[in-house]
Amino acid sequence: MKFRVEVVCISDAGHEQRCGVLEMERRQLAMETLGLTLCESKAVLVSLQDFMVAQQAGEDLNQRRCCPDCGDRHPAKGGGVIEVKTLLGAVEVANSRWNRCSCQQNGPKTFRPASAWLRGTTSPELLYLETKWASLIPFAKAAELLGDVLPIEANHDTVRQHLQSTAQRMEDELGDERQLYLFDSEPIEPQDQPPPDGPITVGIDGGYVRPAHKEGFFEVIAGRSVLAFRRAAEDAVSRSASVTCRLTIRSRGVDSGS
Ligand SMILES: [Zn+2]
Repeated sequence: MKFRVEVVCISDAGHEQRCGVLEMERRQLAMETLGLTLCESKAVLVSLQDFMVAQQAGEDLNQRRCCPDCGDRHPAKGGGVIEVKTLLGAVEVANSRWNRCSCQQNGPKTFRPASAWLRGTTSPELLYLETKWASLIPFAKAAELLGDVLPIEANHDTVRQHLQSTAQRMEDELGDERQLYLFDSEPIEPQDQPPPDGPITVGIDGGYVRPAHKEGFFEVIAGRSVLAFRRAAEDAVSRSASVTCRLTIRSRGVDSGS
């Protein structure tokens, strides 16, 4: 049997435009021929991405074609395309140059309408995935992994540059590092400090508890601190206690804590 994948674009005006994406043929059913292969899925995604981008960019240019003030068409100065790397392949986006409308007196004489939305040449999703993976594994491995599962050719040097620029941008957004002070007030000299509260007794203990079905065990660690007295309140024995418990479940060689 044969499979034919098509994509249909329906404009706001209701016009349909179809594009054949891929044709596949299957004969003998086997585990290897069950469903889409990785190669076929990459080809489908690349064709689909190309078609969608062309439709979106074309529609955007049509909407910007006329001057918003007088309604005249912007005269074309020159054509051109720009390559944008997306998560699903590198695509060419129409990036023509138009003359400024005759009703406008200020600003540059020509402009590229795509600059209204085009920010850089790498899609945010691709940057996100490159940055995420490159922060976990070596750059070369991240690039290799991206190329294995996505229809893109990732370069480890590019991945490294994207990670560094993203990290720098995040640092810049944080602003200057603020100095943190433990105390709001000025430090007091030791001889001027008031007498401290009473001594604190701290107790920590732990043990193992078997669950009902005797599979694995719980590790329980508990702590408690007791303040003998507070000078300001003149309490004979004022207790301030805190208990911390850590439960560790170990069963069948797999550990988890909470
Ligand atoms: Zn105009």
